[in-house]
Amino acid sequence: MTTTFPRRALLAAGAALAAPAPLRAQGTAMRLLVIGGGFGGASAASFARRTYPEVQVTLVEPQPRFVTCPYGNLLLGGERQIGQITHSYDGLRARGVEVIHDRAAGIDAPTKRVRLAGGAVLAYDRLILSPGIAIRWGAIEGYDEAAAQQMPHAWIPADGSQTLLLRRQLEAMPDGGVVGFAIPGNPFRCPPGPYERISMVAHYLKRHKPRSKILALDAKEGFSKQGLFQDGWRALYGDMIEWVPGNRDGRVVKVDVAERVLETEFGTRHKVDVANVIPPQSAASIAAASGLVNDTGWVPVNTRTFEARAAAGVHVIGDANIPGPMPKSGYVANTTAKQAVAAAVALHRGQTPPEPVYFNTCYSHVGENYGISVVGIFRPNADGTAIAEVPNSGGVSPRGDLPEQRRLEAIHADSWYDSITRSMFG
Ligand SMILES: Cc1cc2nc3c(=O)[nH]c(=O)nc-3n(C[C@H](O)[C@H](O)[C@H](O)COP(=O)(O)OP(=O)(O)OC[C@H]3O[C@@H](n4cnc5c(N)ncnc54)[C@H](O)[C@@H]3O)c2cc1C
Repeated sequence: MTTTFPRRALLAAGAALAAPAPLRAQGTAMRLLVIGGGFGGASAASFARRTYPEVQVTLVEPQPRFVTCPYGNLLLGGERQIGQITHSYDGLRARGVEVIHDRAAGIDAPTKRVRLAGGAVLAYDRLILSPGIAIRWGAIEGYDEAAAQQMPHAWIPADGSQTLLLRRQLEAMPDGGVVGFAIPGNPFRCPPGPYERISMVAHYLKRHKPRSKILALDAKEGFSKQGLFQDGWRALYGDMIEWVPGNRDGRVVKVDVAERVLETEFGTRHKVDVANVIPPQSAASIAAASGLVNDTGWVPVNTRTFEARAAAGVHVIGDANIPGPMPKSGYVANTTAKQAVAAAVALHRGQTPPEPVYFNTCYSHVGENYGISVVGIFRPNADGTAIAEVPNSGGVSPRGDLPEQRRLEAIHADSWYDSITRSMFG
């Protein structure tokens, strides 16, 4: 093997392959392996190092830098540059995390080993898996990887190229053009995300191409913070945005890339100038390849420990799992990462995991100085088979003409982004 890996990870892997049990008996540090360096994985690695300095933490992530989905919509609106939403792993390294830039190719839970695409095999005591989502190519007829180069999804940022492509297409579009959105049914990553994106695209068009229109074709009949979004759209963008729900033929089932057409369930063909196709999704491919998903395409987990139902010792967090009523959000990935790490360490030590409580706040920018939010607090049941929202714990921003409230929520959103990314990446 020619790939150069941090010395400690390779030694750990090699030693464990030879004799994992004696290592533990001799009191060697617990090896926590984290796959995926996004919201769930970076949060887990960072939290583990700060809370359990005696635990050896290794993070496997293919990308050299992480481009966040959150605030990607503001890039489309012209309110952020790509550098402002791109984060290096140097801060995690400085915290003592071994970061390996490679892709996990297979998990063997019975022997507690992970095979990397580069050929190395890493042994672990507990595994945290947070690989995010995969696009279900072909779920919309004609929408494959090649089509995404013409009609970007921009729903998995990777190196940021999808988001930048969509931005360039908006810039190249003539004033008076139509931006079409195809929005999936539940569940999908970031329930308010498409509607924040519509808002930010409208924000851009209002300034630069005010005769343009937005056609939002939705597979659903309703969406997160709907009243608040639609109030904001009317107040800020007049009749620029048309939202078409599923029961009014909003479900996009086919795309014609050459003609730039979005075709709906009942055969209506909408010709657009720019198309943002957000397709149906599933857990990222490593989860399916490792036998962790059920027939929904997502990973069922114990809701107290996030241990996969199908694999002992593998804790699956972030968008890849089935989170009950919690949204697939960066906030939830972060808060559940902490519980998963605490549970993993406790179980490794033969202790009872701490009593969990999970939080979520999803902020959305509707316009400049115009923020809204939804909040929820959640608890799992005693046997870890379900999660429920704590009664009367959550809520959404109040409706009405409340400019100061909207201004403050936009500031709170910025603070949330700064603090969560700092806690993840240092
Ligand atoms: C436009 C948009 C806006 C959003 N805005 C918000 C917001 O304002 N607030 C909020 O809370 N959430 C928001 N979200 C949702 C948020 O981005 C996700 O919920 C969050 O990123 C989920 O974290 P994750 O760890 O599951 O996945 P990710 O953050 O995507 O991280 C997954 C990582 O795993 C890596 N990976 C994948 N496969 C492998 C493998 N085989 N081996 C190793 N590594 C692998 C990937 O490279 C990636 O870095 C938004 C999403 C979108 C699309």
